[in-house]
Amino acid sequence: MAASAGPEIERLISLLAKLPGLGPRSARRAALQLLKKRDQLLVPLAAAMSDAAEKVVACSVCGTPDTRDPCAICSDTARDDGLICVVEEAGALWAMERSGAFRGRYHVLGGLLSALDGVGPDQLRIAELVGRVKGTSAREVVLALPATVDGQTTAHYLVERLAGTDVEITSLARGVPVGGDLDWLDDGTIVQALRARRPT
Ligand code: ZN
Repeated sequence: MAASAGPEIERLISLLAKLPGLGPRSARRAALQLLKKRDQLLVPLAAAMSDAAEKVVACSVCGTPDTRDPCAICSDTARDDGLICVVEEAGALWAMERSGAFRGRYHVLGGLLSALDGVGPDQLRIAELVGRVKGTSAREVVLALPATVDGQTTAHYLVERLAGTDVEITSLARGVPVGGDLDWLDDGTIVQALRARRPT
């Protein structure tokens, strides 16, 4: 790292470098930009972060970060209690909400099972999910987990854990994205899309 930067700047850079998608090089560029745009960027960002650190908590029902507990989604009486969509992190929940296609509840696991990273069931909000399914009128659990090894391992584990309940377990279909050109797709996506084909 640049030896000429003061300790305050080095600290800023090393913290920024921990953010997803930012390595040391992008962290240095981001820090420079922040320092250059002190009033438009650095000061408001510091205030927003401090505000978030003080006010945002994880919803005790679903795990979504929000300023109130239960969160806005869990408090919304117009939503279908019978549907629980399970996601890895809140980012996936926000994507589902942007689509406007889902009007049920959510459950944020807080990660995925991973033998490689040493993540076991106790580190995720799995017991809370099982408790929720048993204790409520849920009729369907929709698994909206990534199509990765860890995502599929987690999905299989959840199916096992929910086996004793009456709930129906479904998964999001995988396949050709809207506007997707077959030429650009990887083999795995084409295989999944072919398997999930249906009469039209
Ligand atoms: Zn909630």
